[in-house]
Amino acid sequence: METYQKYYQLVRDNIKNLVPYSSARHEFTGEAKVHLDANENPNDYHVYNRYPDPLQMKLKKKLSRLKAVAPESIFIGNGSDEAIDILIRIFCNPGQDAIHVLEPTYGMYRVAADINDVQVNTTMLTESFDIDRDQLLDNVRPHDRILWICSPNNPTGNLQDQQIIIDLLRNFPGIVVVDEAYIDFSNEPSMVNIIPDFPNLVVLQTFSKAWGMAGLRCGMAFASPWIIRLMNAVKPPYNVNEYTQRYITGLLDDTVSMRKEVSRILQERDRVIQFLESLEAVTDVFPTDANFVLFRIQNSQEIFAGLKAAGIVVRNRHTTPLCQDCLRVTIGTESENTLFMKQLKILTKK
Ligand SMILES: *Cc1c(COP(=O)(O)O)cnc(C)c1O
Repeated sequence: METYQKYYQLVRDNIKNLVPYSSARHEFTGEAKVHLDANENPNDYHVYNRYPDPLQMKLKKKLSRLKAVAPESIFIGNGSDEAIDILIRIFCNPGQDAIHVLEPTYGMYRVAADINDVQVNTTMLTESFDIDRDQLLDNVRPHDRILWICSPNNPTGNLQDQQIIIDLLRNFPGIVVVDEAYIDFSNEPSMVNIIPDFPNLVVLQTFSKAWGMAGLRCGMAFASPWIIRLMNAVKPPYNVNEYTQRYITGLLDDTVSMRKEVSRILQERDRVIQFLESLEAVTDVFPTDANFVLFRIQNSQEIFAGLKAAGIVVRNRHTTPLCQDCLRVTIGTESENTLFMKQLKILTKK
């Protein structure tokens, strides 16, 4: 097992030296008769008059059992987008360091880097959207601090090879983030299980997709305790509100409903894929392990506009590298998908 020292030196000095804000809820965590320490309103005609648990321990204990990961290896964020921003702020000095992304991929890595004045270095995925391991390692620059691997990848939908990811964990000289936002739609095991072997691994997951909770804003990061401690020190003290903490904690008792919903979506996905493959205008339907399908279609911009005019919004990926003439469609309800297919059929016959 590797020690984390070699990666700890990548942490920004101001973060190493940070004295985190110590809230009332941090300093006193036990049960008390009277809480007069946080300037809260004492009227408890509902449960929201008190500040929430800054470390979300009830939620983490349940999640810990579900994921077989220790609570000390779990970070909960206001969406996984918060975790993305926090990781960049921990490891990348503004105006000096860089992240490395594999294009085409999720746009937030770049936006979060831009906001933090952190450079973005890129390596293209192959034509089939796989990682070219040698090309990537060739492209790594001295100031690259974080490598972002999205698997299944957004917007392409495909999984990345776990053996290549493990190779990169060994050979990329910084932090490797594996974004598993869509992992519950695939049969691939999560990489959370190998966290004890790789002190530079961070796995992101979210309640926004398979769990159907995008509106609540709740995301997860799993990593070695040394990274989680830093993330907790940098996050706003009360980043996940009381309602969300309670709701998600309850939700974790019912993985059966989540699984059912996922299999319904996967069935619908098969129907949409079959339909797309039957259209002559569709020249590529890319393999997907997520709740969306990327496809290439003739006259993509007219098709996109035609769908929009009919009130059906899909994602236009035409200007994304390697995605010329591609549209990304999210799998909706049965009737939504039917509407999409009917309209697409009409538009391709014009
Ligand atoms: C949707 C998505 C997320 C989720 O972000 P949240 O802030 O948790 O809603 C993260 N990564 C990828 C690749 C996504 O597509």
